[in-house]
Parts: sequence; structure tokens; C-alpha cells
Amino acid sequence: MSAEIIDGKMVAELLRNRVKEDVQQWCDKGNRPPYLQVILVGDDPASIVYTGTKTKACQQVGIQTETMVLQDTISEKELTQIIQSCNSNDKIDGILVQMPLPSHLSQHTVIETIDHRKDVDGFHPMNVGRLSLDQPCFKSCTPAGVMELLKYYSIPVKSQYAVVVGASNIVGSPMAVMLSRENSFGKATTTICHKYTRNLTAHTISADILIVAAGQPNLIKAEMVKQGVVIIDIGINRIADETHEKGYRLVGDVDFESVRKKASWITPVPGGVGPMTVAMLMKNTLLAAKKSLYPK
Ligand code: NAD
Repeated sequence: MSAEIIDGKMVAELLRNRVKEDVQQWCDKGNRPPYLQVILVGDDPASIVYTGTKTKACQQVGIQTETMVLQDTISEKELTQIIQSCNSNDKIDGILVQMPLPSHLSQHTVIETIDHRKDVDGFHPMNVGRLSLDQPCFKSCTPAGVMELLKYYSIPVKSQYAVVVGASNIVGSPMAVMLSRENSFGKATTTICHKYTRNLTAHTISADILIVAAGQPNLIKAEMVKQGVVIIDIGINRIADETHEKGYRLVGDVDFESVRKKASWITPVPGGVGPMTVAMLMKNTLLAAKKSLYPK
């Protein structure tokens, strides 16, 4: 047996094309194009790649964007003042501060400074809280992208046993919330594991759907999963590899080659969840421009 591949690149392109059409219709009605303000603090190489990918996607779908690059020595006060001026600028629909931030800046303070109506990453406590209450909100792009993939491939989720490995505020925790919601797509029985989980295999081995977001290359091996499991690998890890032009290659958190022999469905890395994250950001930015979620 070899798992069917969940093609995130293809589904993300479909989604981006849909957003592009919606943006066109929105502008045809006399509205200005949606505008995403990206803020990048410092020069972390991965963050530069991620913001570049987001900018390119914006250009493809007709969303206007600008990346403000700030020195990594910026104070928290200066950064929050910049965010506040973006909050009050009516020409800006969405604000994205690229994570991670330099260690002297509080991620919580920075996220809470963003107006929740412009929080297209879905990280603000207002959006996180509303997600937990099953209320309309900006949903964290990566887990929302995973839900879209499950929907697209008609993978059963309702009443399935889902295990999420990784409990971060921006990926693992909202993922578990989305899977377990009773009143919307989800309805899975969900367990969340993290680095303090005793005997990880005791949980992963029972999963019908196993979603991994731990940032640990090859954490999940074939002997840790059951036959027929659906595997969603969110992890993105850089592994040194001199045979690659860039000197590294990307791998997920799952030992793809061994696990694919037991799984029914599996996402590759790259080309699985990553492109969906960017597509969901486009969707959220359009929602922000339309003020669909927060009308006032
Ligand atoms: P994080 O470091 O904030 O959180 C990692 C989580 O994994 C924590 O809850 C930790 O307890 C848990 N964990 C770590 N080691 C573990 C272990 N051995 N066993 C069980 N749990 C363990 O990371 P994050 O921001 O949530 O990102 C997780 C991964 O997802 C990273 O590889 C990141 O690059 C990737 N990511 C991918 C996308 C995408 O678009 N595909 C988006 C965001 C993050």
C-alpha cells in the first residue's frame, strides 16, 4: 500500500484563482483593491523567504501589498506605534507581522496591538476566542488551510479520532479547536500532544487523522501510526544538504518514505500544507477588505 498524495500546491492554486476572481468582482463594483501591510522585523532568512512568497501571491490575486522592513534593534514601543498607525489607516485592510520576532519583543504585545479586524493571521485573542466559540473570525491560516485540504479530498473528519502533535498558539492549538468544533466542519474526537506528552506513540498509534506540527524532523515513524491513517505534516525543517543548490533541503516532521506505506493519505513537504497557508492569507485579506467578519 502506498498513500494517496494530498496535493496542497494544486488545491492552493484553485483557491488563489477563486480569490483572484472575487477580488476582480470586488474592484468591478468600484472598490479599491484589498491592501495587505506586511511588517518584517530583522533579517531572518526563513522570514524573508516567507514574506517574499506572500508578496508574490498577493500580486497574483490582485491584492496590493507592501513589506515594511524594520531593524531588529527596534524597541517594542516603536513597533507598536507603527502598528497603531496601520490600524488607523483606512487604506490598510490587513496587517501581518512576520513571526518569529527578535527575543526582546513580546509576541503577545505585538499581536494584541494589531486591530483584530485587520488581524488576517488570526492570532489576536479576539479571533482566537471567537474561533473557540465557533463565531465568525479570522482563522489562523495554516490550520484553516488543513481543514480546506480535508474538505477538498472529502476525507471523513466527523467522528474520526484526530491527534494533533504540537500545541503552539498559532498552529497546533487552533488546529485542535477546528477539528473538534461540534457545529461546523470538524466534529472529530481530538487529542492534542506536545513535548510533555508521556509516550507519544500511545496516542499517535490510534489516530485516524494524525496532524503533526512540532518542528522536529522525522519525529513520526511508521511504527507510530496505524494502517490507513491520514497524515497531515505541517512541519517545515531545513536540513543541511550539500547536494542541493541552497545547501539545505526542506523536510517535514514525518518520515515520509516509511509512513506513506501505511497511510491512506499523506501531505508531502514541500507542496503540502505550506501553499495552503498562503492561499488562506489571501482569502482572509479579501474578507478584511470586504469587512465581512466585522462589519463595523
Ligand atoms: P512551535 O515551536 O511554536 O511549537 C512546537 C510544538 O510542538 C510545541 O507545542 C511543542 O511542545 C511540540 N513538540 C516539540 N517537540 C515535540 C516532541 N518531540 N513531541 C511532541 N511534541 C513536540 O512551532 P510552530 O510555530 O507551531 O510550528 C511547528 C512546525 O510547523 C514548524 O516546523 C514550523 O516551521 C511549521 N509551520 C509550518 C507552516 C506551514 O505553512 N506549513 C506554518 C507555520 C508553522
